[in-house]
Amino acid sequence: MKVIVAKYLTPVGFRAITLFPFVIIRSKEALLDPHLLTHERIHIHQQRELLVVFFYVWYILEFLIRWLLLRDRKAAYRALSFEREAYTNENDPHYLKRRSLYSFLSYF
Ligand SMILES: [Zn+2]
Repeated sequence: MKVIVAKYLTPVGFRAITLFPFVIIRSKEALLDPHLLTHERIHIHQQRELLVVFFYVWYILEFLIRWLLLRDRKAAYRALSFEREAYTNENDPHYLKRRSLYSFLSYF
């Protein structure tokens, strides 16, 4: 995982974004947040499993479907299988050691 600190490359309202193989973080202070780094590391694994491009296709399609169903952009984002896996496990620094392939499917 290669971390880049770049305030203006991070979407407004977010502290970081993962664009394989890079994690772009809004501020140097965010580098000190182990939960954020674990969260983004989980996205790196998800992206690698889906050969990166399929991750983004799936992410966007799932987001649009959930947005239509929930009619709330933030709720749709939080309901994404990729995000649910990352948010659920970001507080566990050992999660990636025992994570099995395609674990995000269990959060679908
Ligand atoms: Zn995320």
